[in-house]
Amino acid sequence: MKAASAEKSRSGRHKTVLVVEDERDLAELISFNLEREGYSARRAHTGDDALAEARRQPPDLIILDRMLPGRSGDEVITELRKDALTARVPVMMLTAKSDESDQLVGFALGTDDYLTKPFSMKVLLARVHAILRRGEPAEADVLSAGPFVLDRDRFETRIDGESVPLTATEFRLLRVLMAARGRVLDRSQIIDKVLGAGAVVTDRTIDVHITALRKKVSQSTGGGDAAGWIQTVRGVGYAFRQPTG
Ligand code: CA
Repeated sequence: MKAASAEKSRSGRHKTVLVVEDERDLAELISFNLEREGYSARRAHTGDDALAEARRQPPDLIILDRMLPGRSGDEVITELRKDALTARVPVMMLTAKSDESDQLVGFALGTDDYLTKPFSMKVLLARVHAILRRGEPAEADVLSAGPFVLDRDRFETRIDGESVPLTATEFRLLRVLMAARGRVLDRSQIIDKVLGAGAVVTDRTIDVHITALRKKVSQSTGGGDAAGWIQTVRGVGYAFRQPTG
């Protein structure tokens, strides 16, 4: 039975937790408890599988055992942080009691929280709730990045100081991409956030809006350089990030 308090993202999607633990019984137990709380759980048993899973579809949180065969938890988190696709996914590290003196190292590597084994499932779930709640910060009224400034209250978009008239949908689309800055959003996430959960549209709808948005951006003074911030990530979706090269 699913708990009534199923934790969902603003889009209504169940939040996904990737459980990385080589002790299969423990991985299963954690997944079972997460699913009972209304989360979607995925499992990986090695560091390499964890990286592949995280890149295939970035989860909302990764619970990462530190002691893994082959690639360690420390190496996994270092790789995650290097990749724009996974750089901002929160990570909760599971450590052994003997690691306690090393915990600062974990934080330096980009760990958001840690839990020492053995832990109670109740504590783990409480920490998961806490991390996922703070994962959706209140959005600022004015977002700015590179040549873009987006003012929510005034419904205004400026590129290199020049006002660019956008439709309401284009404006929301740009806002969603900018708010997720650097993170890749897949088309269904974008549809939920831009058009509302349950909107009956095809993935292609988003592509059309993106094309229109890019065109308006590239026609502004900022030109093609600014349009380069709105990037297609082949096979995944879109991201707002600084153009390379
Ligand atoms: Ca282990």
